[in-house]
Amino acid sequence: MSEIFVSTHPLVLHDLSILRDRETQPPAFRAALHRVALTLLHTATADLPTRKIIVQTPLESAEGLTLRVRVGLAPILRAGLGMVPAGLEILPMAEVWHLGFYRDETTLQPVKYYSPLHRGRPLPEVMFLLDPMLATGGSAVAAITELKRHGARQIKFIGVLAAPEGIARVREAHPDVHIYLAAVDRALNEQGYILPGLGDAGDRQFGTA
Ligand code: URA
Repeated sequence: MSEIFVSTHPLVLHDLSILRDRETQPPAFRAALHRVALTLLHTATADLPTRKIIVQTPLESAEGLTLRVRVGLAPILRAGLGMVPAGLEILPMAEVWHLGFYRDETTLQPVKYYSPLHRGRPLPEVMFLLDPMLATGGSAVAAITELKRHGARQIKFIGVLAAPEGIARVREAHPDVHIYLAAVDRALNEQGYILPGLGDAGDRQFGTA
């Protein structure tokens, strides 16, 4: 069964309040999202497989470790874009595979509009799926299915807020995917927004509310 990691770090909770506050302007919103993503990614990368190497220091040789898997970031457009700089800061070697899904306003179902996954290059074994909001879970389930179909062997979902419905849907469809969050909120409204939430994470980042 997938594990749900919900941060209790005071800095994450401090930043979460900044993200929730409707008075927070896009520059401060983006900065808080970046910090939260850094902390969650730090936790989510703690079990990445390594192998021993010998490095030559200026003085002598030393044993060290190096990652032994390719890693990738898969931001769900648009809101996941704001988590990419944190991903590349902590995993500078990561490939970035953007995935475009929008939510049909009537059916609330995900509709794919962009994916580079058909190009034939195999995906990294370990993929970090980035989307600040795990709401209905529709886009996350569709994105995970797509990543698995193209060779991802381990997928971790990095979000900020989730609704219980979204967590349940991902767990049911993909029980092997672990989920990393800053908080689990109460519910979804009829439009599929998380309550109390933070509003539209894309609009909040890019000033398009
Ligand atoms: N996407 C958002 O940006 N916000 C929500 O509350 C739900 C989905």
